[in-house]
Amino acid sequence: MTATDALVTSAGTQQPERYQMLIDGAWRDASDATTFDSVNPFTGQAWATVPSATEQDVDDAVRAARRAFAEGPWAASTPLQRATLLRKFGDLIRENADELARIQVLENGKLIREVGGQTLALANHCYFFAGVAESPVGETLASSVPNLQVFTVREPIGVVAAITPWNSPLALLLWKLCPALAAGNTVVIKPSEITPVSTLVLARLIAEAGYPDGVVNVVTGAGAAGAALAAHPDVDKIAFTGSTAVGKKIAATAAERLARVSLELGGKSPNIVFPDADLPNAVNGVIAGIFAATGQTCMAGSRVLVHTDVYDEFVAALVEKTERIKIGDPMDPATEMGTVACRAQYEKVLHYIDVAREEGATLATGGGRPDDPALADGLFVRPTVFTGVDNQMRIAREEVFGPVAVVIRFSDEDEAVAIANDTTFGLAAGVWTNNLARAHRMVRRLRAGSVWVNNYRKTNHVAPFGGFKESGIGRENGFHAIEEYTEVKTVWIDTGNTIKDPFNPRA
Ligand code: NAD
Repeated sequence: MTATDALVTSAGTQQPERYQMLIDGAWRDASDATTFDSVNPFTGQAWATVPSATEQDVDDAVRAARRAFAEGPWAASTPLQRATLLRKFGDLIRENADELARIQVLENGKLIREVGGQTLALANHCYFFAGVAESPVGETLASSVPNLQVFTVREPIGVVAAITPWNSPLALLLWKLCPALAAGNTVVIKPSEITPVSTLVLARLIAEAGYPDGVVNVVTGAGAAGAALAAHPDVDKIAFTGSTAVGKKIAATAAERLARVSLELGGKSPNIVFPDADLPNAVNGVIAGIFAATGQTCMAGSRVLVHTDVYDEFVAALVEKTERIKIGDPMDPATEMGTVACRAQYEKVLHYIDVAREEGATLATGGGRPDDPALADGLFVRPTVFTGVDNQMRIAREEVFGPVAVVIRFSDEDEAVAIANDTTFGLAAGVWTNNLARAHRMVRRLRAGSVWVNNYRKTNHVAPFGGFKESGIGRENGFHAIEEYTEVKTVWIDTGNTIKDPFNPRA
């Protein structure tokens, strides 16, 4: 069965569907025919079977991408042709958004009500970068010599490896794919082993849009396939989203051959509530910041910093609202929080809840599985709030990547800034205040790639996203994302100076 067939048949049936990888325009099994299953975290059932790529498959994919980059229609493509393809791809995403959303829910247990709109909006990335493909990107420079023109052009880097995580498999892929294709690169994608199918089905749309063979390839498999791809000598750039631990390994691998690299990594973001905030609004924002996507977002507002004057009032409201969160079937539009994505992540979240208890944090609510027997098969963790947390505790320093908020008390702006910035991460921060001057002061002082004031967790195609410190290198989205996928070439053209003395060019 090809990925095309699998899209037509129901991806949610009990019999696992078989999917294939896309290499050089052909749907293929692994060269040694090994496979692995994608397991639905709500039912515990394997619902899809996917090839486990070998090093040979990775090599085939990179070679195909190299060929497509160097010769054939893609190598000669114009910005208009690349823009047209991206627009077609965006249209196909819109037409297939329901199916793409449903598959992501089957893979990672995120809510259909959240993923549905998010998937539809992915088309905007295609349309935006279609515009970028045709936008001016070079500059004419001042020349200090008569009859000498100096200008820059931006050229594609070459073969891009896109290695993605499971929490937002398609969004985080599109953030890489669109600028890479707009600039004329070719791509080998290695999706997370937890969420490979959504990427394979998306790849079908890439083929349908009309991209030439080898321009976009997908190899599926676990970390070893990602490591083989990152280490491949013919990969020019690695675009990675995932954990800081793996990001560091990729940076070290890339350094050996000075491959270009952009990294979107983890976070432990502060969400800071001042006494002059609209408190009910802040409670809602803090809840959305940590419990949306079951806390499995890099930008989760997992450290909730609350001013001492409103601490008791805020915590009481936070706990009361947290306990009313409706946990359940992620496909049910009424559900407010779904499952954790996979068993390893589930064990990790429960482990961190134990760590917090052992460190002396106070469990205000949550702290384990829900009792409801209807949820027995799913990887559910109750939304959890710890209070009495010190910023030096592991539960305040390490990324849990699950529905666990820690509440930390502060007494003035300086202390809030000090606690917020006392982290190895720097991905995002939230500030809740109605004091305009304070909002601006905080924006300036917080060391984070995104700062939201009186809102949280917003991203879109025009706004750069990325991290300070160990949260990453580079930015995705926005016009200048194209810089992450291009090299600058400086061109000097002499239009009439005669070289009279080769050892004295100014003579
Ligand atoms: P992960 O680092 O375990 O895996 C990410 C990808 O890397 C997967 O495709 C995996 O197979 C692959 N991989 C694993 N080991 C590898 C290796 N040695 N070499 C090359 N590739 C390898 O991360 P995850 O668990 O899938 O995702 C969760 C993490 O991603 C969290 O830390 C989260 O904060 C981060 N994240 C960051 C952003 C962001 O934009 N900053 C967005 C989403 C998720």
